[in-house]
Amino acid sequence: MAQVKNWHLNREMKYPYADNRPKKQIAYIFDTNKCIACQTCTVACKTTWTSGKGQEYMFWNNVETKPYGSYPTQWDVNLLKQLDGQEWDKTTGTYKGKTIFEAAEKGENVKGWHPTDRDYAYPNLGEDECSGNVNKGAFFSGIHDVWMFYLARICNHCTYPGCVAACPRKAIYKRPEDGIVLIDESRCRGYKECVKACPYKKTFFNEVTRISEKCIGCYPLIEKGEQPRCVQTCIGKIRMQGFLSKPEEARADNPIDQIVHIKKVALPLYPQYGTEPNVYYIPPVHVPKEFLHQLFGPGVDKAIETYKNIKNDKDLLGAFLLFGNTPKITHSYKTDGEFTMGFDEKGEVTTKVPLTEPVFVRPFKNETTGANHHNIP
Ligand code: SF4
Ligand code: SF4
Repeated sequence: MAQVKNWHLNREMKYPYADNRPKKQIAYIFDTNKCIACQTCTVACKTTWTSGKGQEYMFWNNVETKPYGSYPTQWDVNLLKQLDGQEWDKTTGTYKGKTIFEAAEKGENVKGWHPTDRDYAYPNLGEDECSGNVNKGAFFSGIHDVWMFYLARICNHCTYPGCVAACPRKAIYKRPEDGIVLIDESRCRGYKECVKACPYKKTFFNEVTRISEKCIGCYPLIEKGEQPRCVQTCIGKIRMQGFLSKPEEARADNPIDQIVHIKKVALPLYPQYGTEPNVYYIPPVHVPKEFLHQLFGPGVDKAIETYKNIKNDKDLLGAFLLFGNTPKITHSYKTDGEFTMGFDEKGEVTTKVPLTEPVFVRPFKNETTGANHHNIP
């Protein structure tokens, strides 16, 4: 095995192939605080890519309710139970436990597990289930003990993919031009090693064609400079897709770099697995920290603090306002005066958004008609 640098873990780790980062790395940011579980993203993906035979059970995009939701069933708990001692050095942010590559059994490249057919039978298991019971007579008075949140999930187009590491046919590859991870269907022989190895369970086996399939990052759109379907259609405007630079090359004018590398508000999901996933999440602000530390690693406290103070940081606020405001991929942005502007690769404007929404308060009494109006604060 080669030694590669995983910046999520702040250390080197073992991986079957040498470090070979793509020219550009596709990356996404999902703000969990804004997701309403409308499943528009799920349906947009399903109707675009997985409406064929053998694909009925596939959800390349799914949205599950934490703490109890999971698709396939217990996808995360089953693997977490097998990885002993997932400790972090809190002062340096270094992961002290073993990754899925380091914990692999002799003769294997990846520690994984294989879901059964039944694990795919309930895509919305645990939906809208809270972490506890709400007492009779309870009313909302701010942040309370009983909680839940929605976690939207797609393939992470990992820098060190478990699926690539496990495939005996070398049928899975990472595109050098944008880091999208694809399965070469002409090489796949249906051994299902990728299904076992992906810690996020985002490769799926098609029983009709007898080959594996996975999210293709909507690459035909990416090649046209547009964001994927799940991002463009998101009702809650919780998503943004762009390209993430290497940490040492982070650019303040790249909104993805600004949020991930510079302000460190968005964090990877289960970084301890070691695949360096490229979907970054804003952690939910109302959930107990112990749970969030396990999900998103040691950066959670600082991320939430910075997120709550976003109004005082115009650069960060400007980057967030680009979410859901353009179908185009924003490569750079500028926050100037009262507006934030996004630009594509050629420097052309993709969107222009005001930092504050204009508000007009109507006079209570309309002198012309004599009618009284009620303004909702
Ligand atoms: S999330 Fe799974 S399927 Fe996607 S690149 Fe990573 S290991 Fe492969
Ligand atoms: S479309 Fe957006 S808001 Fe709706 S479930 Fe998907 S991620 Fe959440």
